Amino acid sequence: MATRKDDCIFCKIANGDIPSNSIYEDDDFKVFLDLSPANKGHALIVPKVHYDNAYEMDDEFAAKVFPLATKVARAVKKALNADGVNILQNNEEVAGQTVFHFHMHVIPRFKDDTVNVSWVQNESNPEEQAKLAEILKAEMK
Ligand code: AMP
Ligand code: ZN
Repeated sequence: MATRKDDCIFCKIANGDIPSNSIYEDDDFKVFLDLSPANKGHALIVPKVHYDNAYEMDDEFAAKVFPLATKVARAVKKALNADGVNILQNNEEVAGQTVFHFHMHVIPRFKDDTVNVSWVQNESNPEEQAKLAEILKAEMK
């Protein structure tokens, strides 16, 4: 069973030991505004218990994350009259994670804003893709 972790800033914020600009709270989560927002209204969905990342999270808890993300997305879109919303989260340093307590970003998007969520679209090789799909299918069992 997940618990809080000593010296984790998001454990402290989610449990109210450090103040934040909170927009929502329930038994499991606090949602607050990002300190260095990509755009106005950039919010973070943060569990009150500690998981380093998404793949550490148990299914029961994980199932609570996305309904909350859609609720936050609808709220920021409406309140800020956003043209779109990114819902995303990073796992481990190489993937851009900087705070090692699971969190989901909800970022309102506006036409011609400066947010950059992008990657190069590489060409794929059909044989390689088919092999890879088999390997991953086996791993999913
Ligand atoms: P990530 O890079 O996905 O780990 O995202 C971490 C996010 O946490 C960044 O967008 C930071 O701006 C944000 N952040 C870091 N410290 C704080 C804090 N004390 N309060 C609010 N947001 C924070
Ligand atoms: Zn934590």
